[in-house]
Amino acid sequence: MSRQIFAYIEHNDGAVEDSAFELIKVAEQMDPQAQVTALLFGSGQELEDACQHAASIYPQVWKVDKQEHSYPNAELIRPQLVNLLPADAVVLAPFDTFGMDLTPGLAIKLDSAHVSDIVGLDGVDGDTLKAVRQEYGGQVHTHVHCDLSGGAVLSVRGGVFPASEGGQEGQVADKTSDAGEVQAGRRFLEVREAEVGEVDITKEDILVSIGRGIEEEDNIEIAQELAEAMGGVVSCSRPVVDAKWMEKSRQVGTSGMTVKPKIYLAMGISGSFQHMGGVKGNPFIVAVNKNASAPIFQVAHVGVVEDMLEFAPVLTEKIQEMK
Ligand SMILES: Cc1cc2nc3c(=O)[nH]c(=O)nc-3n(C[C@H](O)[C@H](O)[C@H](O)COP(=O)(O)OP(=O)(O)OC[C@H]3O[C@@H](n4cnc5c(N)ncnc54)[C@H](O)[C@@H]3O)c2cc1C
Repeated sequence: MSRQIFAYIEHNDGAVEDSAFELIKVAEQMDPQAQVTALLFGSGQELEDACQHAASIYPQVWKVDKQEHSYPNAELIRPQLVNLLPADAVVLAPFDTFGMDLTPGLAIKLDSAHVSDIVGLDGVDGDTLKAVRQEYGGQVHTHVHCDLSGGAVLSVRGGVFPASEGGQEGQVADKTSDAGEVQAGRRFLEVREAEVGEVDITKEDILVSIGRGIEEEDNIEIAQELAEAMGGVVSCSRPVVDAKWMEKSRQVGTSGMTVKPKIYLAMGISGSFQHMGGVKGNPFIVAVNKNASAPIFQVAHVGVVEDMLEFAPVLTEKIQEMK
């Protein structure tokens, strides 16, 4: 019998997040015969639109429509998932700020196994899932065996699995009453958008992003010249903001901005999940790093093993010549 796999789907403004396209691929890798069900919590028209979007990717969609879910709150959603999910369910969720909040407690409540931040699969052997995780900031891979027989909650790193192209005509089922009453101590108050600086990196198609490898503030000019030549702007990783070399509104990542460029040129950035968690929309990623085993090379489409301080001015010159 094929396994019951569920994917927790995050959505915004009536559209599912990129992770929805990746989680179905993870499920298919685990079990090509599985009937994968998308789980969506929200309220009103936005939820309805997101469910229709999810139905273009998943054969089955379960929706829970409650006013209290208009903002995702793991404390509210967790007990409702426990009411909804069958015993032995395998639940996939994105490993992002929300997924980190939701999944460990969900695994405890379901009394099932939990593996977080999965970056690869070595396959499923009977009831044993062989998953790959990373330790020490991506320097070491660990191969984890997880027993799926009693169910499992698995969180998956964004951007490392391929994305589905959709094309499904899935069915949406309303599971609102099955989810039970909403009870929680934690209340949603309001969304406060991060301040936008002089440049809004969330709207740019081309980002030249710099990390600790920039070494000192004066070197930022090198990146600015390259960004100008490419028709983009400079963004950065958190250490550059911590050093007060760039303003917070330029920081990409889970505690910074979420960007959706077409081209992401990452220079002197190791590729931590907190940084890459802010890079959405499957951009073309070019990484320049002098360490050939930097984790960023696992997600980059093009990798350049070079000193960025030498490479960037040469690239700027070449682009200017071509113009
Ligand atoms: C709760 C939390 C939230 C966080 N939020 C964010 C966030 O939003 N955004 C974010 O970026 N980080 C965030 N972080 C920090 C994150 O974990 C990493 O520490 C950070 O992303 C590392 O930045 P980096 O890649 O620039 O630096 P490092 O990890 O130090 O990497 C520097 C890289 O540059 C390379 N390098 C050095 N010199 C050169 C050179 N001359 N040429 C080429 N390559 C060179 C090195 O080989 C290395 O790979 C967060 C951490 C926590 C705990």
